[in-house]
Amino acid sequence: MPAERIDGKTFAAGLRQRVAERVREFVSETGRKPGLAVVLAGDDPASQVYVRSKGKATLEAGMASFEHILPANIMQEELIALVERLNADEVVDGILVQLPLPDGIDDKAVIAAIDPAKDADGFHVINAGRLAVGEEGLVPCTPLGCLMLLKDRLGDLSGLEAVVIGRSNIVGKPMAQLLLRANCTVTLAHSRTRDLPGVVRRADIVVAAVGRPNMVEGSWLKPGATVIDVGINRVEGRLVGDVDFASASEVAGAITPVPGGVGPMTIAVLLRNTLVAASARAGIAPPEGL
Ligand code: NAD
Repeated sequence: MPAERIDGKTFAAGLRQRVAERVREFVSETGRKPGLAVVLAGDDPASQVYVRSKGKATLEAGMASFEHILPANIMQEELIALVERLNADEVVDGILVQLPLPDGIDDKAVIAAIDPAKDADGFHVINAGRLAVGEEGLVPCTPLGCLMLLKDRLGDLSGLEAVVIGRSNIVGKPMAQLLLRANCTVTLAHSRTRDLPGVVRRADIVVAAVGRPNMVEGSWLKPGATVIDVGINRVEGRLVGDVDFASASEVAGAITPVPGGVGPMTIAVLLRNTLVAASARAGIAPPEGL
């Protein structure tokens, strides 16, 4: 039986709708809208597309959107000064600095300048540390979106074997932390892992976040596994994931397509994180059901 498709697009639309409902409650409680500031430096076309769609989604959720578009030759000090102004700005609840930053700017220094309470992307070391020790904090959007899809399909994840391929700070590592927090037995595989197919074969849950088109083959999978494909690769003008969808669909129990799987979740979770940050800053209860 071919694998069930995990429809991230529909799930993300539902999440955005729930966020918009909670935003209305926030506005009636506080008399103001939650605000998300997005900072884009340089003219990377993919980043420009992301920033535009983030701004549109923010407004659709009933939040205020502030865009700061800066030239590629911006100095690091100027960028950090902008982040500090946004930290101090009462109407800004979430700050997102679009990566990658232009050459010569240290991503880490800029992220470190963001107030952790406004760190909508969850990349600040304070938030990474909170996730690692099991404290409440803001969690990176893409892995949190993957976890939502997994819980929606599988319910309780306790005791399941999860293999995450890729150890980036943005996806792989926080994904492993989230699965651990959900009581999975977690393996974090990477470019130096020996016998990757053998490692993947024991997984009930596979999350691929590598950036290599069609790398994970159906023959690597345990029959019935749930496969989350984070990869976004452009091959001959088409988007493909890190998982070979055709062969994996023959073996997996369920799989996210690319596009239409994990991708739409990222922006939906960004809106959720902004509302969570806004609620904490306003001293009101965290939004429920998100
Ligand atoms: P990255 O380049 O920072 O990390 C890639 C990881 O893959 C590294 O940890 C590396 O060790 C591992 N790796 C490389 N080659 C490998 C191999 N042969 N075997 C096993 N592991 C290997 O990438 P990233 O930022 O984590 O992104 C990964 C992919 O996810 C990319 O395709 C990116 O476009 C995509 N992505 C999608 C979203 C989304 O919203 N859907 C968000 C972020 C990233």
